[in-house]
Amino acid sequence: MAPMDNVDVIVLGTGAAGMTAALAAHESGASVALIERGSRIGGTSAISGGVIWVADNPRMRAAGMADSREDALAYFRSLNHGDLVDETLEAFVDSGPEALEFLEGIEALKVAVLPGYPDYYLDRPGAKPEGSRALDHDLFALGELGDWAARIYAIEEPKPLMLRETPLGGATEMPPMEVLGQRMAARQCGFGQAMVARLLKACLSRGIEPLLGVETHRLIKEGERINGIEGLRDGQPFALTARRGVVIATGGFEWDEDLRQTFLRGPVTAPASPPTARGEGLSLAMAAGAKLGNMTSAWWAPTLVTPDAPWASGEQRAQIILIERTVPHSIMVNRSAKRFCNEAANYSALGGVFHQFDPANYDYLNLPAYLIFDAQYAARYPLGTRQPGQPIPDWVMRGDTIEALAEQIGLDAATLAETVARFNAHAEAGHDPDFGRGTSAYDHFYGDRSRQGTAVTLGAIREAPFYAVQIHSGLLGTNGGPRTDGQGRVLGHDGAPIPGLLGAGNAIACPTGGIYAGAGGTLGPALTFGYLAGRTAALANG
Ligand SMILES: Cc1cc2nc3c(=O)[nH]c(=O)nc-3n(C[C@H](O)[C@H](O)[C@H](O)COP(=O)(O)OP(=O)(O)OC[C@H]3O[C@@H](n4cnc5c(N)ncnc54)[C@H](O)[C@@H]3O)c2cc1C
Repeated sequence: MAPMDNVDVIVLGTGAAGMTAALAAHESGASVALIERGSRIGGTSAISGGVIWVADNPRMRAAGMADSREDALAYFRSLNHGDLVDETLEAFVDSGPEALEFLEGIEALKVAVLPGYPDYYLDRPGAKPEGSRALDHDLFALGELGDWAARIYAIEEPKPLMLRETPLGGATEMPPMEVLGQRMAARQCGFGQAMVARLLKACLSRGIEPLLGVETHRLIKEGERINGIEGLRDGQPFALTARRGVVIATGGFEWDEDLRQTFLRGPVTAPASPPTARGEGLSLAMAAGAKLGNMTSAWWAPTLVTPDAPWASGEQRAQIILIERTVPHSIMVNRSAKRFCNEAANYSALGGVFHQFDPANYDYLNLPAYLIFDAQYAARYPLGTRQPGQPIPDWVMRGDTIEALAEQIGLDAATLAETVARFNAHAEAGHDPDFGRGTSAYDHFYGDRSRQGTAVTLGAIREAPFYAVQIHSGLLGTNGGPRTDGQGRVLGHDGAPIPGLLGAGNAIACPTGGIYAGAGGTLGPALTFGYLAGRTAALANG
């Protein structure tokens, strides 16, 4: 890469949003500096499922699947609780397909429809039960990246398969071990790893080499215009000028305890994202006078802390749990040993129940929460990284009776026994009159597909030993931050764009508000606004 002290566009952050912005700016004729705070590339995007939700996307069109702008807008608007802004929502719906065409056209993405993955709110107008809006990645061979492959975040944990080949993506079983072994040897990966790797390759092949380890302390201003960054690299002062604009794509703020406590609407005890999302972009935007939006909300998700597998940098690590709370022979209970939700509901909406407040006790009703399961479950289903049939880890609580398990957890034994007995009676009758588990097609997606009807998700908890793990109020990332217009320009308090400042991804107020439309509901807007912000920055007057 040529030495730089000034470029047209600076992009902060090497996740999906940042690399897309860098590519869009470059293809619009700008010179680009892609800046990363850490020593690794890809942030949350690299460890994600990589699924991308875009309505009326090019893959759907190619397959002759019907969708429209009107359906997509009707769907979002039916879910609106005041968090949607017409301009940004419409920009996402209108430009999402174009952003994907752009990325596929420059080989920065290779995607296919994730078959059968339904939208999350199937009773709403414009929802697609057949799942055509969610896209999955083809495999990528890491050798194509040379030495840069080792710079991808958590690449030491390779995912040699595509989401659509796994139960998480709707398949009934995993690819054979032999196939996985061959792919490991060929260093092939899928999921978010393939997405980040392809984006990175497209950047590198255009001479955009990420500059790692840059701490940005301040945005530089010339008059009213943001025109650079200032900070440290390797402990030495670092400054770079951007003639046209700076794009903030630094991810969310969930790993900054102070920001989390200040803004989010309820407790978050275990984020599933990596500790790269520290809200630095938010702080830079606030200092520049940005108007904020969506700050109380996040991509909520129940999580499970895996104490035996922390992040490489030492922080506590948590897994999103999907299959675990959907398959039969399991329930979730709260501090009162009572069920409190349809356990199989979509993860983001489910976040709300963890924030239910009890005015009588001045405390959260459903925290702490626990997943309770039995020996049938242990034999057949996974738990975090533990596969079916493997030994149950030491940190899982167990008891020979439900009462003994309750004692282990510290719950009232009689109440837990009553809760389990009630659930069992209903499960055996094939219904859940308390919370309607098993009534929606979504409830079946992560269930046991070898079964029929509601038995996909409902099954009695009867066989000893009985087990419990704590379930946390977690998230996949925050989705509040500086508000932008429909071109990705950050707005000031007066509602006018701050000249030279743009944003995309979890670093900004998401154009879909807090609405997780379906699988891929965060990466769809991140890529779209990365595309818009990068292109807008490049075309700004210098
Ligand atoms: C387990 C898991 C699975 C998920 N699966 C999906 C899925 O399948 N589909 C979906 O839509 N969403 C999914 N999500 C959510 C999704 O991954 C995120 O919403 C998305 O990746 C955010 O992208 P981003 O580019 O905004 O941020 P990130 O991918 O987090 O990238 C931000 C980058 O900016 C860097 N950075 C931070 N501060 C600075 C700074 N000051 N200067 C420069 N760089 C900085 C970070 O180090 C990081 O590399 C998942 C999340 C998790 C945790």
